[in-house]
Amino acid sequence: KQENEYIKDLITITQEYDPKTANAKLFKDLPISRNVLKGLSQSAFIKMTDIQKEAIPMALKGHDVLGAAKTGSGKTLAFLVPILEKLYREKWTEFDGLGALVISPTRELAMQIYEVLTKIGTHTSFSAGLVIGGKDVKFESERISKINILIGTPGRILQHLDQAVGLTTSNLQMLVLDEADRCLDMGFKKTLDAIVNNLPATRQTLLFSATQSNSLSDLARLSLTDYKMIGTLEDA
Ligand code: ADP
Ligand code: MG
Repeated sequence: KQENEYIKDLITITQEYDPKTANAKLFKDLPISRNVLKGLSQSAFIKMTDIQKEAIPMALKGHDVLGAAKTGSGKTLAFLVPILEKLYREKWTEFDGLGALVISPTRELAMQIYEVLTKIGTHTSFSAGLVIGGKDVKFESERISKINILIGTPGRILQHLDQAVGLTTSNLQMLVLDEADRCLDMGFKKTLDAIVNNLPATRQTLLFSATQSNSLSDLARLSLTDYKMIGTLEDA
């Protein structure tokens, strides 16, 4: 089928893509599928920020990424674009269950991520869900099994993982720990460890933070494999 060919080409181009020589400045210069590009440009996302320029190609190539860049630098798209691309290339459907999990420290941040995802994902077919507490767990559990991209706060996600029904992570392709420094500051270290221990080791992991610290390095060691360090805070 035509789409299979298109995806095969996209994967080949991505493998051969060399970020240094390509020196891409626009989203459309990256090996990104047309439907994701359309969602980006209709949301007025044309030029990449620095962290996006570095992190997206690395993530598309399948690497784990530790991305550190200050607040407001555009970290959300640096992980949402790779998530959409990964699931598209895997031809993910509702029957494949959870493909990507995004952990965010607060309900407000989780909701913001969800909104950006709905905007840029409007031409893709994946289902997205938000678990941030507030509604009862049972209500969420009944809906959670059909969700492809789940965004939530640490405590609530662990609560769902601890339940026998609903959330199944055996197919999980990608884990994102957003604002990981804030998660640690808020005392979520044990919760994050417990979540990570529940997930298949074969997944890809992207970890983002606005600051760098020893506890962040600990978390990175625990959750990432052979990761690429990206950003400007390495010597902070
Ligand atoms: P961070 O998570 O690093 O604090 P965000 O992802 O929340 O940053 O982005 C900060 C702001 O910049 C948001 O308003 C977002 O819409 C905007 N933004 C992000 N990337 C781009 C881009 N490539 N082009 C234009 N605006 C962008
Ligand atoms: Mg952010």
